[in-house]
Amino acid sequence: MGDGSWGLVFGPVRSRRLGVSLGVNNIPYKVCSYSCVYCQLGRTLRLSVERRPYSSPEAVVRAVARALEEYGGRVDYVTFVPDGEPTLDTMLGRDIEALKRELGVRVAVLTNASLLWLPEVRRGLLGADLVSVKVDAVREETWRRLDRPHPSLRLREVLEGIRVFAEEYGGVLLTETMLVRGLNDAPGELEAVADFIASLGPARAYVAVPTRPPAEPWVEPAGAEAVTALHEALRERGVDAELLTHSEPPPRPPRAAGPGEALEWLAAVLSVHPHSREAVERLAAEMGLAPGEAVRLLMERYGVEETRFRGRVFLVRRPLPRRLGGRGAPSR
Ligand code: SF4
Repeated sequence: MGDGSWGLVFGPVRSRRLGVSLGVNNIPYKVCSYSCVYCQLGRTLRLSVERRPYSSPEAVVRAVARALEEYGGRVDYVTFVPDGEPTLDTMLGRDIEALKRELGVRVAVLTNASLLWLPEVRRGLLGADLVSVKVDAVREETWRRLDRPHPSLRLREVLEGIRVFAEEYGGVLLTETMLVRGLNDAPGELEAVADFIASLGPARAYVAVPTRPPAEPWVEPAGAEAVTALHEALRERGVDAELLTHSEPPPRPPRAAGPGEALEWLAAVLSVHPHSREAVERLAAEMGLAPGEAVRLLMERYGVEETRFRGRVFLVRRPLPRRLGGRGAPSR
């Protein structure tokens, strides 16, 4: 896969929520309607609510088909989990339909849900087998401080959009709530979030804390007390709630044709998810590379950087602004 299609499709990764999931990256790096303080991709480069075609169904199907063939194993979901907000892509609904029709795969979408108040966005998602929506806060001030939405967005409309979608949607609906110390971890906030999530009747609600280097260095995970309080508040309301308080395991490496492709794959993985240095060295060794040398080359050739979070060293690749639009979706 030395043709750059790892930019559009990546993984598969093993995920607690989705099992074995092949990722589709249909949005340029950090084009998003939010700029969450905890985002593991760094600060949003283009804060936008402008929807436009970013991908093409033919190219997405082609890249997924090739990745599935090369992987050779079974994947549970093909998942739209891009470097930005997937629903900004007006082609998302057609991508989903094409994947299901042409490849017979199950499709998941992880969205910040900020655009679900638009009927066309909800319609585009109806064909997905699983949709996970972000519900970090139900109070305007908290939401603005935590998720830093595009100024044109209104929380009341966003929440109403999520509510209507939950009613219309027949697939598996998940929610995800990221808890950040001092921002959305007060008892009153947690109760209000639990009430709203319960009103949606999701298949499962995930409660998460930042486990990878965040966009803002001052971000700290909420304490165990807040995490447990939300988990219990959800359960008391009859919601199947689960904690996501540890890093997801790294992806399984593919059969790379040579060291160049192995490095390219590692760089693509680090663009989407920062991983600890030990995890990257382990992956490099599994792919037949000398671990220390692989890390050195990732830094030298691919702009991978070291960063620290809570006493651990992570490797991360955050494209520079000048590379905006330079990798990923085929229409760019
Ligand atoms: S966490 Fe998701 S919604 Fe928030 S800024 Fe990052 S990509 Fe956008």
